[in-house]
Amino acid sequence: MLYSTVAETYEALEMTKKRLELTDILTNLFKRTPKGLIDKVVYLTQGKLYPDFMGIEIGIAEKLATRAISTVSGVSEDDIGKVYQKTGDLGAAAMKVLKQKIQTTLFGGALTVERVFSTLKKTAGVSGSGSIDIKLGYLSNLLTDASPLEAKYIVRTVTGNLRLGIADYTLLDALAVAFVGDKTSRPELERAYNLSSDLGLVAKEVAAGGLKQIITFKVKVGSPIRPMLAERMESAKEIVDKLGGKVAAEYKLDGERLQIHVSTKEVSIFSRRLEKITSHYSDVASLVKEDIKAKNAIIEGEAVAIDVDTGDYLPFQELMHRRRKYGIDEAIKQYPVSLNLFDVLYLDGKDLTALPYTKRRATLQKILQDGDRLKLVPAITTSDPEEIEKFMQEAISNGCEGLVIKDRNSAYRAGAREFLWVKLKREYRSELTDSVDLVVVGGFHGRGRRAGRYGALLLASYDKETDVFRTVCKVGTGFTDEDLMRIFDMLQKYKVQHIHPRVNSKMEADVWFVPNVILEIIGSEITLSPIHTAKMDAIRKGAGLALRFPKFTGKIREDKSPEDATTTEELLEMYQAQLKKIEAEPAQEVIGKE
Ligand code: ATP
Repeated sequence: MLYSTVAETYEALEMTKKRLELTDILTNLFKRTPKGLIDKVVYLTQGKLYPDFMGIEIGIAEKLATRAISTVSGVSEDDIGKVYQKTGDLGAAAMKVLKQKIQTTLFGGALTVERVFSTLKKTAGVSGSGSIDIKLGYLSNLLTDASPLEAKYIVRTVTGNLRLGIADYTLLDALAVAFVGDKTSRPELERAYNLSSDLGLVAKEVAAGGLKQIITFKVKVGSPIRPMLAERMESAKEIVDKLGGKVAAEYKLDGERLQIHVSTKEVSIFSRRLEKITSHYSDVASLVKEDIKAKNAIIEGEAVAIDVDTGDYLPFQELMHRRRKYGIDEAIKQYPVSLNLFDVLYLDGKDLTALPYTKRRATLQKILQDGDRLKLVPAITTSDPEEIEKFMQEAISNGCEGLVIKDRNSAYRAGAREFLWVKLKREYRSELTDSVDLVVVGGFHGRGRRAGRYGALLLASYDKETDVFRTVCKVGTGFTDEDLMRIFDMLQKYKVQHIHPRVNSKMEADVWFVPNVILEIIGSEITLSPIHTAKMDAIRKGAGLALRFPKFTGKIREDKSPEDATTTEELLEMYQAQLKKIEAEPAQEVIGKE
């Protein structure tokens, strides 16, 4: 298959923002792709070579890519830099520079997708001394035979900047239309994706065996399952009413969620955003190997930092020390954890995700050898809101955030946030009962003590519908000097020249970022604002939702990816819940006036 087919498709995708058109264009591409290549084409379209959980990046810095463009075009790196400055995109710069060359030379052989993919794969695999030159060689070789348009997308891909802005569900729609015939089978494909976190694999299966193969798709040890998530509600009574009757209430521990895959060969641990983080939790891997009685299993639990002398839970921040790049072994010793299990999704050849909660919990109990460090999350079964409130107080006094209340009949709904798990958290002092997780999209230069760093940050929520980040507040309080330094350092690699195409903002920031870093924020309430763009026009024309008096809680949510940020839809629900609360408890002022 010619790579030009792929590049031309990307160009067409860039011309439209309409989801239906995007789906049509992608469907066409998938229909033209040989079945044996479909997984590769899907990964390439996502801007990668493998599913995210493999953690393999192509790893070519913009500087090196510039050198390759220079080698192939004969244009100096400085001149390419100037074009880049103007276009704000190295891919576009490569296209421009190579277009000039077209008048003097002819391009080599037509590039195939197979060749592009295998060369990029080789590039990703190079490491150690001399690797820069080898990577340069591979890339230059590709670019020599690439047309200007192909070069644009190759350069963007290798530098990790493809960003076609296509949501996973659009890709799933297109796969459904291409290989099953219409979009009605999307839920089945989505289920397979949620169980494997691997769109390439789903594409391969549906291309090979159609809907039949997808319906029988099962979880596999080694492919992480997208986590089931919780909705939120404000009182135990509301939750019991909503779930109907007896519920299971579990401690909501304040740690890091781990999905642990056990096989006879090895134990692998995945984070909430499905990165492989086994090396950060090698102690947990050993615990599981010793105390879980199973040959193969997928279990889920919350790792919580503990005080070894008392066994008490410690705050989440302690745990994040483990996520550092260097000195991991020391961090493991310095910040011991306990693992608190709350689910089992697979056991010795059987996919348990379709079983009800009660059966899964009983199975978990059976395979677990309870110990000091490895235990089941404390839980009660009840239909009495008062009992739940009491259990909640107990959880909070034991250092938890609150409770997760679960429907006892519910299957494990991978990737879903529904009213089957509902979180009940302690009320913060503010009106807003819950914190929100927002993505940093812009920064404002600091003055005085904050000179040289950012004095405030522009934060956004995620609009799932359109796959865009919309602003909610500008935050400058709650940061320690250390936080500011750390956040500043983290943000440097995400700096971009112009507002990022996936960001929607009316406010002008001094610096713009690729949405990536997530901060936990509390606010006093959600208000309407003409400046912020979250849910613009939804409540009132010309007004979006904004967070009033936002404050950083101290938590950088490195365990979340940008798409896991609080959504605009959730903010709208929170806004409406807040209004209901005000209606239910008439404002003090009104009473005073009478
Ligand atoms: P939050 O920001 O409130 O921590 P979240 O957005 O990370 O929540 P939610 O789905 O809203 O994720 O809440 C569920 C999270 O709570 C899980 O991802 C997990 O990390 C944590 N958790 C703690 N205890 C439990 C439990 N007993 N059952 C399920 N999840 C639990």
